[in-house]
Amino acid sequence: MKTIDTPLADAAMATSEALAIVAKGDLCAGCGGCAGMFPDAIAIRTKAPGFLRPVQVGALPVGADDAIADICPGLGQRVAPGGRRDDPLWGPWRSAWTGWSMDGGERHRGASGGALTALLTHLLRAGVVQAVVQNAPDPKAPLANRTVLTDDPAAFSATAGSRYAPSAPLEALPDILADGRRVAFVGKPCDAAALAAIRARDPAVARAVPVIVSFFCAGVPSATGAREILRQLRVEETEVARFRYRGHGWPGRATAVLHDGTERSMTYRESWGGILSKHVQHRCKICADGTGKAADLVCADAWEVDDSGYPRFDERPGESLVLARTVLGEQIARGAQAAGRLALRPYDMARLADIQPGQRERRRALSARLAALRLLRQPIPDYRGLGLRRAARQNPWRRNLRNFLGTLRRHLRR
Ligand SMILES: Cc1cc2nc3c(=O)[nH]c(=O)nc-3n(C[C@H](O)[C@H](O)[C@H](O)COP(=O)(O)OP(=O)(O)OC[C@H]3O[C@@H](n4cnc5c(N)ncnc54)[C@H](O)[C@@H]3O)c2cc1C
Ligand code: SF4
Ligand code: SF4
Repeated sequence: MKTIDTPLADAAMATSEALAIVAKGDLCAGCGGCAGMFPDAIAIRTKAPGFLRPVQVGALPVGADDAIADICPGLGQRVAPGGRRDDPLWGPWRSAWTGWSMDGGERHRGASGGALTALLTHLLRAGVVQAVVQNAPDPKAPLANRTVLTDDPAAFSATAGSRYAPSAPLEALPDILADGRRVAFVGKPCDAAALAAIRARDPAVARAVPVIVSFFCAGVPSATGAREILRQLRVEETEVARFRYRGHGWPGRATAVLHDGTERSMTYRESWGGILSKHVQHRCKICADGTGKAADLVCADAWEVDDSGYPRFDERPGESLVLARTVLGEQIARGAQAAGRLALRPYDMARLADIQPGQRERRRALSARLAALRLLRQPIPDYRGLGLRRAARQNPWRRNLRNFLGTLRRHLRR
């Protein structure tokens, strides 16, 4: 689970054909799945400009390369509606609500309404699972993340809130299996997709991780993004004791708490819109999911929009979107509501495209971007069942053309 900032030889990766294709196309999402499956052969390291990437540190067992090719979200993703409603932008789903944690502290600390943490609290208190695998700040590097296994909801005060920095939670797979308890897993949509694919191959993983929870994801910025926030706040990294990307209000400010106890902060619009969104990895720009299609439950920001149709980021009591994609997800959400842990109000999914413009535009533009990369003979993920053509048809042809040419131009310049 630990990461070391050292440039290991890329040549070692050449022995894995799958990882070589990932590296050639810059397709790694940084989920950690390959390292979690083959910990003696693959490790996760921080690589410039600050992303988590696999490096080969040992010989791969026979068949490992095929297994990596099967589960790696950089190489592909498969989604099957399985009788559920299937929206071209949002994928298969069963029920949608807006919601927030009934615990005021949990709601305040959460990235949006603390609904995700309320669901985890319910899963533990109701005994559905015995522990939760999720993301937390790294105490040794306050801008960075680490993966933690938690069985006490009191610890959720440290894990709540979105952290716009790399995380590779599936690197912890051997620890999860060794732990032996039944866990719920929280991760980015690509982490969820990789885990679902690993579960389909390995019954031991399926038994150990019966619940997958995710969130909408616009992309993971490199560590350079967070350092740019500090630079604009005029803070040295060594001065920082703790760092919040958001939360403690909705959306909450990016806040550096210094060793002397003082705080420096900036708004969400300044941190995400002005800085972090410009540092996201290539895989995120061609992400066909971003909304957790492999998860049982997904949370997101239930933004309100202004008159021009853009989300309002003025501070308010938090509200999450809660999307149940499976029967199990529905049962968990309704169970949390019945236990008085989560407030839920039915949500009209027809409104979602208005309040998630980033997700909407990326999905609609994706076919055009992938076509440009294909023309340039760049490796691209093999997406199946993700409704790319249906999404592209929602775009005027001029916008698709602009995305096609923009992708061509960016890559030729590179
Ligand atoms: C990189 C990133 C991009 C996002 N993009 C969007 C978006 O485009 N649209 C949108 O509506 N919402 C987005 N979100 C999600 C949103 O910020 C909230 O997480 C979501 O609204 C749930 O809020 P909550 O208050 O219910 O969750 P909380 O109760 O605050 O719980 C958040 C959970 O997410 C986990 N988590 C936080 N950061 C990470 C990470 N880096 N990797 C893995 N797990 C993590 C925490 O451990 C915790 O379990 C993004 C989040 C991240 C981390
Ligand atoms: S996306 Fe995940 S599985 Fe694929 S190479 Fe990167 S870390 Fe490994
Ligand atoms: S945008 Fe897609 S690929 Fe990037 S981190 Fe989010 S889910 Fe993973």
